[in-house]
Amino acid sequence: MSVAVAGSSSASSATAVVCYCRAGFEPECTQEIQALAQEHALDGSIETDTGAGYVVYNCTSDETSLRGIFDWRHLIFARQSLIAFARFENLPRKDRLTPMLDALAARGEVFADVWVESPDSDAGKELTALCKSFGNAMVGALRQRKWLDTKSRKRLHVFFASGDVVFLASAEIDHSAPWPLGIPRLKFPREAPSRSTLKLEEALFVLLSADERAKWLKPAMTAVDLGAAPGGWTWQLAYRSIRVTAIDNGPMDRALLQSGLVTHLREDGFRFRPRKPVDWLVCDMVEQPRRIAALIAQWLADGLCRYTVFNLKLPMKKRFEETRLCLDIVGAHASDVRARQLYHDREEITVFARR
Ligand code: SAM
Repeated sequence: MSVAVAGSSSASSATAVVCYCRAGFEPECTQEIQALAQEHALDGSIETDTGAGYVVYNCTSDETSLRGIFDWRHLIFARQSLIAFARFENLPRKDRLTPMLDALAARGEVFADVWVESPDSDAGKELTALCKSFGNAMVGALRQRKWLDTKSRKRLHVFFASGDVVFLASAEIDHSAPWPLGIPRLKFPREAPSRSTLKLEEALFVLLSADERAKWLKPAMTAVDLGAAPGGWTWQLAYRSIRVTAIDNGPMDRALLQSGLVTHLREDGFRFRPRKPVDWLVCDMVEQPRRIAALIAQWLADGLCRYTVFNLKLPMKKRFEETRLCLDIVGAHASDVRARQLYHDREEITVFARR
């Protein structure tokens, strides 16, 4: 299908995988896409700019197979992964809507919702006001044509990569990140001792399903937190009534210690081992990623924990290669490994694994 060309603008219907990522991590997101493309013998080309906050992979494969290959849940450096069915360039500024509605008419789909987004980058933030007003116009037009229905399992994404380049994608609600821009909005809990509490909260939210959280995070479970001070991660566990042994030479938050759920030991996180196996091991020590991966693998191999969430601080160079190597080390002793560069992660990724 080829969609209308208006004035000097152009529209194309070639399939493109659009991945949103942390600005600056486009090279890693690209490497991840290329690795998957190679594994599945896809033919395509990458389009990216450092700092853009997204990567586009243009290819000729059909939407359904791409959806299976680039599933957002399995990607590490992408917060959202969309399969775009149309791309517009140099849309007339007075009427960007009509060419898009023509493309939508040709698809004949009904959507539960529409999200108009721009990249999480400095340039992308300048488009926020445009996205908001365009979003209102788009919702009105979809309503008028009866193309919005809350019963639909599809969501329309209008992605303003820039003021002049726009992608349209139809995402399956159950198979795409359920937050605009792939960023869950979390509120900092006032009682938590450090902002990094949001990192563990986001990890539990993004890497586990609601069912898994209910099954695997239960009151009276036990946990060890390596590199716990001042206690942001420990707080997340104690908040769920899990008993935590917090390992750190630094001081822990007093109120947290008074909860009666936390035992603080001033020990070396690399040497500490619990007398009895625990349900959870969490680890936020700032160390070489391979050293952390080897430590976590040892705990899993020795049966000392069932579930783990840990942070890997990535080196300056070869971040993708180092990520793969570390995940292989852990994967050798885990039945399931899931990793993501979270919104609250900077030069790092967060990993969940279970025995
Ligand atoms: N997750 C914590 C929170 O939410 O408040 C923040 C942890 S901070 C990024 C890293 C901590 O790891 C520091 O408090 C540091 O003292 C601790 N640490 C580093 N190496 C350690 C080691 N070998 N043993 C125990 N703690 C260590």
